[in-house]
Amino acid sequence: MIEVRDVTKRFGATVALDGVSFRLDKGEILGFLGPNGAGKSTAMKIVTTFLAPDSGTVSVDGIDVLRDPLEVRGRIGYLPENHPLYVDMMVHEYLQFVGRARGLAGDELRRRLEWVVEACGLGSVFRKPINELSKGFRQRTGLAQALIHDPEVLILDEPTSGLDPLQIIGIRELIQSLARSKTIIFSTHILQEVSPVTDRVVIINAGRIVADGRIGELERAAMGRNRIFVAYRAPAVEAEAALRGLDGLHEVRPVAGREGAARFEVRADFGRDVLAPLGRLGQSRGWDLLELQESPFSLEDTFIALTRQSGGAREVSHV
Ligand code: ADP
Repeated sequence: MIEVRDVTKRFGATVALDGVSFRLDKGEILGFLGPNGAGKSTAMKIVTTFLAPDSGTVSVDGIDVLRDPLEVRGRIGYLPENHPLYVDMMVHEYLQFVGRARGLAGDELRRRLEWVVEACGLGSVFRKPINELSKGFRQRTGLAQALIHDPEVLILDEPTSGLDPLQIIGIRELIQSLARSKTIIFSTHILQEVSPVTDRVVIINAGRIVADGRIGELERAAMGRNRIFVAYRAPAVEAEAALRGLDGLHEVRPVAGREGAARFEVRADFGRDVLAPLGRLGQSRGWDLLELQESPFSLEDTFIALTRQSGGAREVSHV
C-alpha cells in the first residue's frame, strides 16, 4: 500500500533523509519511531506529497507521489504535527469545510460527518468554537478532518504529543479501532507509545532506517542474547565465581538485590536452556534460590542498542 524506495532529502547542509526505504501492506499499522530530528516528519511530508524527495521514489496504492499527487492525496488522511486548525470556526463548520474541500456533499457529507463525530468522540463539542477546545479535543478534531473522506491510508505525525495520559489512551484506542480497515503510519519519539498499538516498527535515526520489523524480532537482533536475573542466598563472591564457571553464560554482572541475596544479571544465547543449570547450581551448593527469571529486553534497550550501532542519534535527549 505504501512503498518508499531509497528516498533522500536535504535541507541545505542537513541530510534529513539518507536512502530511506520501507514498505507497508494494506491494513498494517506501522509505528515510525525515532528521536527528535531523525527525519520522521520529513518522510511523512514526502509520502503525503507536501514535499518532493531529492531522489528515490514513493508510491501509495501503486500511484507515484510525484506523478499523480492529487490521486495520492485523495487516498490519504493526514494529521500533521502541530496541526493548524481554523480556531474561529465551530467544530462542525470546520469539518464540513474540510469535507467539502475533499469533494463530499449532501447526504454523503452528512453521513461522513456523523461517522467521524461518533468515531472521534466529538459529540459534546460539535457546536463549540475550536479555540475553546482542550488540546485533546483539538487533536480529535484534527483526526476527524483526516478521516472525513474515509481514506484508505492514515498518516499521523506524533498524534499523541502534548496530550495527558487519559487523552493518549483515547487516541490510542481510536487508532486501534481503525486498524483493520485502514493502513496507518503513526510517528512518535516516545517508545512506550508503540507497543500498545502495533508490533510493526520502523526505527529511523539521523535520516537512516536502523531497524524494520516486529518488535520481538528487533529485540533479538539488536540484543543478540537473552537476559536472566538470578539470586541465591549465598556469599556474593563465591556465587559469582560459580556462575562464571557455568557453561553457556556469556556475561555475569552483580546487580542490587534484597538483603542477604547475591543477585546477578546474566546473558545466554537464545534457545539455550540455562534456567535448569542455574537452579541445579543452587541445589548442589546448598544455596536457596531466591529468584530466577528470564527478562525480555524493552524496546528502550533495543532502541539504545540500535542507535548506538548506527553512530548515535542527532538528538537523543528526548527519547
Ligand atoms: P523528526 O520529525 O523526526 O523530528 P524532521 O523530519 O522534522 O525530524 O527533521 C529532520 C531534520 O531535517 C532535522 O535536522 C531538521 O532540523 C531538518 N529539517 C526539517 N525540515 C526542515 C526545513 N524545512 N528546513 C531546514 N531543515 C529542516
